[in-house]
This record gives sequence, structure tokens and C-alpha cells, in this order.
Amino acid sequence: MLNETPKTNKIQAGIYLIKTLNYGGSPVFPPGFSATDICINLNPMKLNLNCGDFSRIVCSLADFDNHEEVLLACDEQTGLRALIAVHNTFRGPGVGGTRLWKYENDVAAVTDVLRLSRGMTFKNAMAELPFGGGKAVILAPDFSKYQRSELMRAFGRAVSKLEGRYFTAEDVGTSCDDMSEIRKETECIFGLKETSGDPSPHTARGVFLGIEASVAERLQCDSLKGIRVLIQGVGHVGYHLCSMLHQSGAQLFVSDINRPAVEICEQEFGATAVSPDKVYDAEVDIYAPCALGATVSVETLNRLKVSIIAGAANNQLRDAKATEELQQGDILYAPDYLINAGGIINIACEMNGSYQPEKAAREVAKIKPRLQEVYRRARTEGKGTCVVVDEMARERFQMQGFSKVRGPETVMESRHPAESIAY
Ligand code: NAD
Repeated sequence: MLNETPKTNKIQAGIYLIKTLNYGGSPVFPPGFSATDICINLNPMKLNLNCGDFSRIVCSLADFDNHEEVLLACDEQTGLRALIAVHNTFRGPGVGGTRLWKYENDVAAVTDVLRLSRGMTFKNAMAELPFGGGKAVILAPDFSKYQRSELMRAFGRAVSKLEGRYFTAEDVGTSCDDMSEIRKETECIFGLKETSGDPSPHTARGVFLGIEASVAERLQCDSLKGIRVLIQGVGHVGYHLCSMLHQSGAQLFVSDINRPAVEICEQEFGATAVSPDKVYDAEVDIYAPCALGATVSVETLNRLKVSIIAGAANNQLRDAKATEELQQGDILYAPDYLINAGGIINIACEMNGSYQPEKAAREVAKIKPRLQEVYRRARTEGKGTCVVVDEMARERFQMQGFSKVRGPETVMESRHPAESIAY
């Protein structure tokens, strides 16, 4: 329990990584403070935050799951404010992309990085990759004041401070060009133009294969011809998914808050536009969330008329209630972290220095039999697909002696609760 006065490391200008700890027990807040109070003031550029506060905030959040490290990286000069979370490194270094996003508040950013990095532990295990789980978020600054390339380089310097415990790549809001800037400061990066490149077409391929498997399972149909699919978010992944579905004869419905992206799909694939507030009421067979997470909730499940949910977005299920509702209803859910692993599987193929596109395609194609196995087990064991996939991912940890050799428990024992490190 954290009930002693934390060390105070006042933050000064420069890049700082404040390490929060993986420790047991609930943190104790100073009298009169809640996580939200502290987080709202979480602007280290005001040079006001101390490391103990940050540890407390992170560890108190519901999504904190014995993460090994959560780091805050700040740089006044370049406008960088980023969070890097390493959930678990048992299978290998934490690997997961960097999201650049304008968050409603700092709690939302911390929550996002915690959930995303934990998701990567499960995703990488389920994809049988030698990686643990990690993820980063950059809080979007005012780009009229700061230069993007400089900000990315500052972020690269932050990644390098983790000394190989975290490897980054693209995610929502970041591009291959950003990765090239980050690469100037760290070697801990995947998804560069000159190697495996943009992961999104490979992610889309995995989702497409997942949709094929889901249609065979639920609609007993070997073809996608005439199947009505609504793609929510036609950015990097959504666009490529539309292209593959169009080639297979599916009927496309698309929705995006970015109108030009919708227009491209209307023109290229004959897609029908659906306004963002009508997505959950559309008369379609498949809902493919490819924008942001947490769109599958009790409320949206009650509105959705679809047979299948299968999309690229991470963390699609809003909360435990949504998981429960999903299990009781008759919508077939293709677990997000299984079918959206194509990008990370492709990235893993550049690990030994020789990236071969054919080999990468063969590896991505394994998503389909993995999903078929989840469906088979869900059917025979009478369980929800999200329960089965978590069980299967955990089995992959256990096969490797996860709980015996080094897991959250042992990490907890080896670190002192009040230990906070500012670099
Ligand atoms: P992107 O930023 O290129 O595209 C997201 C799109 O969603 C954008 O066009 C945006 O305008 C749209 N959008 C945002 N909010 C919306 C809303 N409320 N309604 C409709 N549209 C909305 O991102 P991406 O790389 O295509 O990734 C999409 C999703 O897939 C994300 O959740 C990401 O974490 C996940 N994912 C991506 C990859 C990858 O390889 N890029 C890999 C795994 C998972």
C-alpha cells in the first residue's frame, strides 16, 4: 500500500519519463484528492507534478492491470506530452503502435494507453508472436505552435529511454513519415517505409479473413456476394477493407466523420454513406468498427440489427456489461485483438532483417484458422467468443510458464511501491 510520502521529483524542462509501478494493493490518495482531480492538473509543463502523484493516478484507474511500467514523456520545447505503457514483457519486449489523439482529458489518455497496452499483450500472444504488450499515446498539441517532425523526434528520444523494453510503430493519427522521424532517435521501432511499411493493408486483410470466417460460421455462406457490411471509419484500415470487400461482391455502407473519406468510398466502391448517428440502426448483416474503440455497449447492442460484429478497432467492447449482453444475444462477435492482428504480424516479419511479403501474407492468413478455432470452442463449450479468446491467449502464456517464470506477481514483489524514477 502506498501510504507514505512519495519522493518528490519536480519536473523541469526536457524530456522526462516518470515511471509508475507495478505493485499490489490500492494506492492511497492524499486527503481530499481523487484520481480525477490530480489528472486534470496533470500538466507537467506547468512544472507542478511530482512522480508520486503520477504513480497514484495511474495505479488507481480501473484499467490499471499490474502494468510493468507506465511512463509520461514531456518536452516543453517541442510540445510533447506522451504516455508509454508496457503491460507485460514475458513473451518479449512490449510492442504496439503510437496513437496521436486529442483526448477529452488526461484521464482518458491514461485509460486509453492502459487498455491498449494490455490488449497488445493478449493480441501478441494470440498471434503467437515473440512480443509482450506495449502502447503509446501522444496528446495532440496545437500544431500551429509546434513542428510535427520535432515532436516525433522528441517522442523517439523518450522511446529510446526504455532501452528496448518498448518498440513502437504506427497507430491512429501517426504515419510512416512520423516513424521515419522517430527512427532518427531510436532503433526501437517497426513499420518503416523501407521495411514492412504501412501495417494497415495487412490489418485490413486479417479483418477481411475474419469476416469470411464469420459469414461461414453464422450465415453458413462461403461467399460474401451481396452481404451487407457497414464499415465505421474509412481511414487507413477501413479503406483497404472496403476495397477487399468490394472485390468480393459485398454491398458496402460506410460512415466517417471525415466526409472526403466517405466520398472516396462512394466513388471507388459504390458504397452507400451512413451518417455517424445512424450507424447502429442500419439494416445490414455486419457491423465492422474501424474507427475508435468502445463502440459496442449495451445501448448500441440493443440497437444493432446485425448478425456479426467484425472490425479492426481496438477494444471494441465498452465494458463488462457489454460483454455480458453480447454473450446473451445472438450476434456473433469476432474478437477484435484476434482479427486485427494482421498489422503486427506483418511487422514481426521484419524482425530478422529480411522482410518477405509472401511470408508475411502467409502469416497473416493464419488469423482465419485461429478464429475458426475460437468459434468451434465457443460452440462446443457454450461460451462467448470473447471469453474463449481470452482463455486461449492465457493458455499461450501458460504454455510458456508465464505464471511460474516471470509475470505480474513476481514483478510486484521485486519493486517497492514508492519507487518512482524520473530520467
Ligand atoms: P485512421 O485514423 O486512419 O482511421 C480512423 C478513421 O475513423 C478516420 O477516417 C476517422 O475520421 C474515423 N472516425 C473517427 N471517429 C469516428 C466516428 N465517431 N465515426 C466514424 N468515423 C470516425 O486509423 P486506422 O489506422 O485506420 O485504425 C482504425 C482502427 O483500427 C483503430 O481503432 C486502430 O487502433 C485499429 N487498428 C489499426 C491498425 C493499423 O494497422 N492501422 C492495427 C490494429 C488495429
